[in-house]
Amino acid sequence: MDSVSLDTYRLPTDTVPTHYDLKICTDLKDLTFDGAVSITIRFVNDTSTILLNAFELELGPSFVLIDGETITPTDQSLKTDTQRVALSFAKAFSAGSEAVVRMTFRGKISGLSGYFKSEWVHDGVMEYYTGTFFEPTYARRAFPCWDEPALKATFAVSLISRAGTVNLSNMPSYFEGPYNPEQDPLEPSFGTGKDAAEWIITRFETTPKMSTYILAFATGPFAHVEGSFTSALTGKVRQVRVYATPDLIGQAQFPLELTMKVLPMLETMFDMEYPLPKMDILCANGALGALESWGLIVGDPGAFLFDPATGSTATKKRVVDVTSHELAHQWFGNIVTMDWWDNLWLNEGFATLLGSIISEKLYPEWHTAAAAVNLSLKYGLNMDARLSSHPVQVACPDANRVEETMDGITYMKGASLLRMVSSLLGEEVFFKGVALYLKEHQYKNSVAEDLWIALSRTSGTDVGKLMKNWISKTGYPVLTVTEVPGGINVRQNRFLASGIAKAKDDETLWIVPLRLQKINAQRTILFSGREEFIPLDTEQPFKLNASSTGFYRVLYQTEKLNKLALEAAKGIISDMSGLMNDAMALAKADLAKLSAALTLMDGFAATEWYIVLEGIAANISALLDAWWENPNIVECLQRLDRHIFVPLVSKLGYHYDAGESTDTAAVRTLAIKRAAYARDRSVMAELQAQFSAFTANQEASPLRPDLTPVIYTVAVRHGGMKEYDFIWDILKTTKSPAEESHAAFAIGAAEDSVLMAETFGRLLKQNDSNVDWLLAALSANPKSRRPMVQFFKDNYDILQARFETCGFENYSQQPFRLLATVEDYEDTVAFFKTKDTSKFTRSVDQTLEAIQTNIKYLERSTTDISEWFVEWSARHP
Ligand SMILES: [Zn+2]
Repeated sequence: MDSVSLDTYRLPTDTVPTHYDLKICTDLKDLTFDGAVSITIRFVNDTSTILLNAFELELGPSFVLIDGETITPTDQSLKTDTQRVALSFAKAFSAGSEAVVRMTFRGKISGLSGYFKSEWVHDGVMEYYTGTFFEPTYARRAFPCWDEPALKATFAVSLISRAGTVNLSNMPSYFEGPYNPEQDPLEPSFGTGKDAAEWIITRFETTPKMSTYILAFATGPFAHVEGSFTSALTGKVRQVRVYATPDLIGQAQFPLELTMKVLPMLETMFDMEYPLPKMDILCANGALGALESWGLIVGDPGAFLFDPATGSTATKKRVVDVTSHELAHQWFGNIVTMDWWDNLWLNEGFATLLGSIISEKLYPEWHTAAAAVNLSLKYGLNMDARLSSHPVQVACPDANRVEETMDGITYMKGASLLRMVSSLLGEEVFFKGVALYLKEHQYKNSVAEDLWIALSRTSGTDVGKLMKNWISKTGYPVLTVTEVPGGINVRQNRFLASGIAKAKDDETLWIVPLRLQKINAQRTILFSGREEFIPLDTEQPFKLNASSTGFYRVLYQTEKLNKLALEAAKGIISDMSGLMNDAMALAKADLAKLSAALTLMDGFAATEWYIVLEGIAANISALLDAWWENPNIVECLQRLDRHIFVPLVSKLGYHYDAGESTDTAAVRTLAIKRAAYARDRSVMAELQAQFSAFTANQEASPLRPDLTPVIYTVAVRHGGMKEYDFIWDILKTTKSPAEESHAAFAIGAAEDSVLMAETFGRLLKQNDSNVDWLLAALSANPKSRRPMVQFFKDNYDILQARFETCGFENYSQQPFRLLATVEDYEDTVAFFKTKDTSKFTRSVDQTLEAIQTNIKYLERSTTDISEWFVEWSARHP
């Protein structure tokens, strides 16, 4: 291997793949697969070594075909640490020549990544099927390949499986028939013991040039629903299908129709036809969320399935969001792909933004764009307010650590930055630029700079210069606004959850699109200095960051300025939400008083806009999470909750009217939920009565889907073993992923120590998806939070082994992040010191920083919040 300079992380560029002929034979009975791959490669340099990726595969002998000659390697070694296989040859191949590398391999179908195993219960028996999840670096677990996004090639896939199964891949099949090993001389290894009557082979058309991480295939007893869409650009008709196991297929009509609607919309927005002959979505149990594999999206059933009869609006919103996100990737990500994982944020940020833009277009009554202020924007700003954060464009030399960067910064800050650009340029100009970018880079790879160039050309604004620090630097600014004669002074400093950054961490100056909202008027100023004067009539209402599309916070120095901003924001959902979220964050960072934020929030509480109320509820929840071990403040916050939401329950009642607005229905759901969680007796009694009627006769007294989660929760929280068992039974038997999460959260909400112990005792025996939900639920319940920390510590090794490849870094944050004492901090530091956290050091740092921030918050603001409530209570006896 001396002849090759071995970069530790990237494959050498001596050889590039151009085409894969991939054959996979899946045996669902013994959960193994055999494979053979012929990879056409081109030698870029003279080399006697061929280096590619493979991991957890048992490799058979390989050889190279070149100019009609078969050459076997002198050595073939598989290195586990680098996940590579090296083929060494006696003689060097010369640059410019082409060859075919042939390899055979065998692997186990297991885990949740690579070629993974899904389970379902059929006639009382556990059966299995498969799917693929290759992003970022798991294709190499299914077949040897050049597993890097820039090494694009075409793929011709053939799948062999037992008769009676359905085989799926990115492209449509052009042949399916009995598999006769004798007629397949190239694959003698597949012949052993296979009877042509029992096996089939499905051959798929060749894909366009694409990256390995979006390749997909699956084998199983799939049922499907089918439709089609007509290209908005060419009139061509393409088939759309949603696949699932037969027990779930009844919930597939909604995502099918959604996909049929969204694809032509995206064609128009991108001014580019959908490039493949068909679009399938496969719902596979246990998949890690959803993956945009080209022409065959694979995801957890919860991401796509929706039953209009029993599904809640929240589930429907999620399905629209996720489906649109994955469909947007079919262009942005699949046709044009990031060159390397450091630009993953662009891919994910864009698809996340598109998820919300499509939702807004399809369901304007959901106010999705304004809702983003409480979702992606709020989440991104919170995540990025830590010293341990990272730039969206994060250096990621080691592809095996990409997952660590697939976090809220990548998705939520990424989406928010693109929203900021889009609102600055205007959506139409923005999409013109996106379309230009897609055309110029189709079937190739790109970096963010390429998008900026296209956007600059369509807008005339230097977008690259504007975005430079937003994407390459950690953090974002807080703008401090002071009143001066003739206008205002605006100063920018880096914002941290712990306050304004110290000078050494406060060197970045961002170019801030400063949109100024006045009554019925807006204007935009690009602010790039440390401090600037802006002429303005400070007797009239004004607010910076109009529509809250900017990725920054604004601190108004005086009560007068706060009042003017509040006045300017009135009636604009996004501005009201943005102001409130800023006020709470500034208070937590000690830049303003928490009491001032509470007063502002109280001032908006009379609204009936769902999104504003949802923001208020989330802020109260955040305070409950902060003071969860202070019973007096918990009681005050619950009183505030009841004060805001019980009157809404009284006004709106429990009945959902078919003709009412989505907003009214959403407010009712929220109000009932908040009142119940804040333990309002009459609301709890009503929900318990509904639960009793439901358990007595489910058909006669079905639960309203929107209320199911809170009804289950109240039933378990205030019930005994009977209610607990009833809900546990739902958790174990439900076919609905949403129902599964509702049941898990109800189980996790138990406050009775016997029930809690029961849950901990059963936890690890459950399937992965149940474990996932239960861990989150037990961490969310203040009563089980400390036991959960202990359970996590006690079972750390088991959990890590089980979830290592699927988001273990998140599990490692969940139980600890709300701890708020110095002792907790020290314990947590000491605990992680004893563990190998090398794959998620950043995640551990974030947890520790969160605990420290919590400690300071309580030290600083406990008196302030207590005093505010004394005064508030006097006003609301
Ligand atoms: Zn995505």
